[in-house]
Amino acid sequence: MSASATLYIVPTPIGNLQDISQRALDTLREVDWIAAEDTRHTHKLLQHFAINARTLSLHEHNEDKRAAMLCQRLLDGESVALVSDAGTPLISDPGFILVRKCREEGIVVTALPGPCAAITALSASGLPTDKFVFEGFLPVKMLAREQALENLQKRTATSVFYEAPRRIAETIEVVEKVLGTSRQIVLAKEISKTFETYISGNVEKVRDYLSQDPAHQKGEFVLIIAGCDATPSEIPPEALKLLTLLQTELPLKKAAAIVAQQYDLKKNRLYQIGLEMNEH
Ligand code: SAM
Repeated sequence: MSASATLYIVPTPIGNLQDISQRALDTLREVDWIAAEDTRHTHKLLQHFAINARTLSLHEHNEDKRAAMLCQRLLDGESVALVSDAGTPLISDPGFILVRKCREEGIVVTALPGPCAAITALSASGLPTDKFVFEGFLPVKMLAREQALENLQKRTATSVFYEAPRRIAETIEVVEKVLGTSRQIVLAKEISKTFETYISGNVEKVRDYLSQDPAHQKGEFVLIIAGCDATPSEIPPEALKLLTLLQTELPLKKAAAIVAQQYDLKKNRLYQIGLEMNEH
């Protein structure tokens, strides 16, 4: 049940429309206004659920003005739901200026729990979830992108990024350049959609996947990078590379033995790392 003079943050599906919650539907039905990142996009969603509602736009180019206008309406006793095109508003999406202003004005702000690509991807990634850093989108400029990734060289927490399809292959190349080939990463592609795929392994494996087929670079991506502790640092990257290569042709036990001999390493440890690589 929606109350007047409240701003509701309403997450919407990131692919599968069935992921909308009953509470989100009720709220969208009952509020006086829906502030949407793109009203045309949101109309399609509302139409699908047969919701008749008054919408107005709130995006990065008009958020300042809209925030003032919406706060006044909220202070006058009206209720507002904030939605973005997909997922949780404010998470790499507009809404921060509005929420901050509402808080400053003492307006009640309630966030509904719901879909968020970063959290969904992280929970299924198989990488440590106890400590993570959400980084949003990496900078577009190459130098800035490299610098942003350099921060991960010593970070032990898992890092979560959003990335555009046109940049994903290039970004993986930069990850390889800055963090090496053996760092464990996961690419969550098209979450909750028909062709949902999780590609996990070391950087080399993910790079190879992307270059195999142009279709592999299409769609929406969350990139998750393991913290530096999760990578077996005692093993030289060349040894890991050889282990990965040999494993495609030989049983793991044999591959581990060859690499152990070549690099003077313990074969049991290599066997264990091989198993972990295959799990991802
Ligand atoms: N606010 C949204 C959320 O809560 O997830 C994120 C909005 S941000 C503008 C859009 C980015 O989220 C995409 O470029 C992609 O990186 C990620 N994303 C959104 N939907 C996705 C999906 N179904 N699968 C994978 N990544 C997704």
